[in-house]
Amino acid sequence: MSFKKPTTLLRQANVALHKKLGLDEPVDKRPRHTDRMTILSPGVTIAYHKRKGEDYPTAQMKNACLAGARRAQAAVAKAANVLAGVSMLRQKESDILTRTLAAHFNLVEGDLANGTLSDNTKDKSFALSDMGKHDRRWVIEKIRKQMLHLSFHLNTGMYLIDIDPTNRKTAGGAVVDPTQADPNEEAYVIGHTSLKRGCGYRNGEIHINFDELKTYSPNSYARVIIHEACHKYLEADDHEVFDATDNDNHPAYAHQGIYASLPLLQRLTNADCIAWTAISLYAGAVKMATPAAYHPDWENS
Ligand SMILES: [Zn+2]
Repeated sequence: MSFKKPTTLLRQANVALHKKLGLDEPVDKRPRHTDRMTILSPGVTIAYHKRKGEDYPTAQMKNACLAGARRAQAAVAKAANVLAGVSMLRQKESDILTRTLAAHFNLVEGDLANGTLSDNTKDKSFALSDMGKHDRRWVIEKIRKQMLHLSFHLNTGMYLIDIDPTNRKTAGGAVVDPTQADPNEEAYVIGHTSLKRGCGYRNGEIHINFDELKTYSPNSYARVIIHEACHKYLEADDHEVFDATDNDNHPAYAHQGIYASLPLLQRLTNADCIAWTAISLYAGAVKMATPAAYHPDWENS
């Protein structure tokens, strides 16, 4: 089902009213690029700019988006369950969980993460004296809570807005130049950190480049959605790490060498750590794009 965006209808009604009263067209204080919405399934709605005489977004774009959205819903739910098995039901860690924690949280048995942990023993038997301690289970419980939070939001209903970068003339209510846009920008959420956010404003919606991602596998598409959902719902960041090769700070994305040096506490609120963990636990294999092997996990994990 497709329909005109409510904000577009309101704007059109306001313009028509002014016209009828013989007044000048009112200034659009918050111009928006997208004007149409489609419900792809009961839990997934998209918004986009309708192109006259064109079939846009194409069936391929919509199919990839729906498959990615459903996979994102399934992946965070599954990951939350796997983590709950260990932190709440005291089951033994599965091999895939151990390897995922090592890859994305640098959590290696026996390593105390530069003093952040007081103990890092796998499958440690329960002891009351461990309550409140920063041990391995404490880390797993922290990640579980993030996954459950994501699962609640993503499985309640997902709203994805097309970036449409080479046609978009407005973003966040401000004018932008489509000729300066990066056609390969995958996704974004406006205002996801407390620093960038104006007081009292909620985070923006998840924007996805429908065209760029139309050939992505469901797992890779889902990884992008979950990364952005971490920004939107968890206030997670893309934490920066100092890179000695160019004497500058860079976001610690999984596909960069500096990912390995991100401290544990920052990993707990780092979008890529959480997103790749969800996909890895869903897939049953450690997934991540690395400097040495960027493909195929990036777009076809
Ligand atoms: Zn990010």
